[in-house]
Amino acid sequence: MSEKLKHLSQNEIENLIKEYYAGESIAALISRYNIDVLPSQLVKAFPPKILPQVCGYCGGQVVEAYSSKSSRYANPVFCIRCDHKLQGYCNCNGCRQIAHQAAIEQAEQEAAKKQIVAARFAEILEANRPDAVDYDTLTFEQKVYLGAVLRAGISEDYSLLLPFEKMHSSVAPTDSFTNEIIHSLTKEAPILLISPVSHFSSYGQKGDGNFYYHPDKVTWELNLYKDGMNKVPLMDLIMNPSIMEASSDDKFRMWQKNALEEVLQDLTYSVEALLKTDSPAGEKTKTVFSALLRDYSTSQIYGIIYNSINQALRYKAETNIPNKRAANSVVGNAQSYGERALANGWVINKRSRKRELPISAISNFFFGKVLGIGDKGFTEKPTLEMCS
Ligand SMILES: [Zn+2]
Ligand SMILES: [Zn+2]
Repeated sequence: MSEKLKHLSQNEIENLIKEYYAGESIAALISRYNIDVLPSQLVKAFPPKILPQVCGYCGGQVVEAYSSKSSRYANPVFCIRCDHKLQGYCNCNGCRQIAHQAAIEQAEQEAAKKQIVAARFAEILEANRPDAVDYDTLTFEQKVYLGAVLRAGISEDYSLLLPFEKMHSSVAPTDSFTNEIIHSLTKEAPILLISPVSHFSSYGQKGDGNFYYHPDKVTWELNLYKDGMNKVPLMDLIMNPSIMEASSDDKFRMWQKNALEEVLQDLTYSVEALLKTDSPAGEKTKTVFSALLRDYSTSQIYGIIYNSINQALRYKAETNIPNKRAANSVVGNAQSYGERALANGWVINKRSRKRELPISAISNFFFGKVLGIGDKGFTEKPTLEMCS
């Protein structure tokens, strides 16, 4: 019972409450009943209604408090001992414990479900496990790709290969090249197998019961052997090839391909950063830059791209054309600049890699270990002579 009403009898209090809700003026009630309270506080002084229930948590008395007659909400109903609220959201100790328990149970159920799915996934992988691939049947490309990815992400004990998206360096200059590498090492030949230890978020079961997986997120195992060679020397052979038997043509083609990917990477990054729009990356773009790579090194083409983007930015500033159109002019600029430079004997300055685009695992491995020319793979134009 509130201190403010202790001079009133039970009857008087009941009448006071009745008159309050009947619409009597608050000022009149305060004066008639001689209550020492601010008008806005009167309703708070009403003793709560005792309800014929006890609290489910603590057995305490459940009451209904009065709220202002202008209130749009139902009167609060709660336990006077533990403050548990019987309507709406409640954050009392009892309710918090129940929510906590429910969360634990749900997590346990989910973990159990995941375990069942993981076990089924492992079963399917095992049932469909292809025969190990003979190292000696690998193509030159596959050997290069494999060496690069193993260097970027094989575990200390050589048993597992990190998911591509988690490797120490980016595998290839562009995503499409990375996908090509994954395809070559998994679909063209089952050199890499999905490991059952893959993180649960990297695969899942579809409605029809079949499984799907994210090729850049799953963990891999190596499915490879070489007659007369144990795992450790085989790994060494793949990652540190002293001689890779391949034709100069194969090496030259790989250099051209990788150089083109590095050019496209720089182009895409520069156009997106400076012109805030997608870079042209269609067949025409590839043809133009492939042709330029016959006369220029990757680092010189970075210089040509730098120059062409400057030109496009200037064109945009002068004519106020949309970014998209300015971006579309970049490839044409590069082509004519490269051709004029060649015809006029201009020197095209080399530019280095951008800090944001460090050398990829494939470039590092191919230029460093396969061709053995290191930075020249970037600063010299691809030639057949350098591949022999
Ligand atoms: Zn209670
Ligand atoms: Zn509660």
